[in-house]
Amino acid sequence: MSASKHIETKLIHGGIDGDKVTGAVNVPIYQTSTYRQSGLGENTGWEYSRTGNPTRAALEALIAELEGGAAGFAFASGMAATSTVLSLFHQGDRIIISSNVYGGTFRVLDKVFNHLGLSYSIEDTTDLEALDTKVTPDVKAFFVESPANPLLTVTDLAGVAAIAKKHGILTIVDNTFMTPYLQRPLELGADIVVHSATKYLGGHSDLVAGLAVAKDKGIAEKLAYLQNATGAVLGPFDSFLLIRGIKTLGVRLDRHTENAERIAHYLEQHEAVKRVYYPGLPAAQGYEINKKQAKNGGAMISFELREGYNIKKFFKGLKLILLAESLGGVESLVCHPATMTHASIPKDIREKVGITDGLIRFSVGIEQVEDIIQDLNAAISAAKEV
Ligand SMILES: *Cc1c(COP(=O)(O)O)cnc(C)c1O
Repeated sequence: MSASKHIETKLIHGGIDGDKVTGAVNVPIYQTSTYRQSGLGENTGWEYSRTGNPTRAALEALIAELEGGAAGFAFASGMAATSTVLSLFHQGDRIIISSNVYGGTFRVLDKVFNHLGLSYSIEDTTDLEALDTKVTPDVKAFFVESPANPLLTVTDLAGVAAIAKKHGILTIVDNTFMTPYLQRPLELGADIVVHSATKYLGGHSDLVAGLAVAKDKGIAEKLAYLQNATGAVLGPFDSFLLIRGIKTLGVRLDRHTENAERIAHYLEQHEAVKRVYYPGLPAAQGYEINKKQAKNGGAMISFELREGYNIKKFFKGLKLILLAESLGGVESLVCHPATMTHASIPKDIREKVGITDGLIRFSVGIEQVEDIIQDLNAAISAAKEV
């Protein structure tokens, strides 16, 4: 363990560093489902790869160290991580989610767990005073994102965790947009962190994976049980790819966020742009809180074009920036939350929380920033109705 090292160094050497047997600098891909036992009850500690696999274990030790938790868990997707964490709760329990959570998180609660008797309610988690009054005896956890998807709404994570502690309930944070390089919720008082590692942690749009980290041993033991019991584990090859992605997270995010800051300022002064959402802009909601709890504003920007600009033509006009679901890859990606990532949220709820039909979500890549700006500019010009 390298507890005293800086996060940039932990990204490369954290968890299990290389292979002791051969000196290989990378943890090998243990592409195996089972392990030979030398006699009844005599094994090497590895028995079956759903329960444990050395490549996955290296990734799990790495994310635990990066987030500062007791143990980490790797899953086949971000939704598998979230679903496994939600399996900690029981019939009759209720979870409070923030109003801008990822569409899939809303969907699994609304369409799957709800039927099993785990209910949810949607609250504005940026209003701590109001949130405190919403904790009835059946509420067992807060599930929050900061900045939240897709309006980049900032929630005071330490504030939410303090309310949770007062009521004896859990705080779960989806840290996908920030990653432990920019924000560490467990240090702010949260109990569980979940990730779609498909995004920045993997970083190359080449894998689907999820991670969860528990701060305390007790919850970690329950998650280990659930991970093995429900079985949505990450395979050895994808575990290797994710470890590889995490090694460059620091340098990638430095460039991602440098580009995002430039582009947010550019969009803010653009005559065609009605509104920019980016927690790194001093005018943004939650700017001061984000500054306190995260290294910077991250690399996700949302914006709305003014009346007179056609959104379909805008997307058609992009040449470099790709129209696609997902985020956090080295390439710049845009999406239309109302019809893509948040389509599973009913229109009335969507509009109420500000996910309008004109909203564009932008995952700023690490290309040369002038090239990105030029592409944006050309697409905005093409979108202008005459
Ligand atoms: C993508 C995403 C998820 C879901 O992760 P998958 O890997 O797609 O299952 C959850 N939360 C956030 C914030 C995401 O962006």
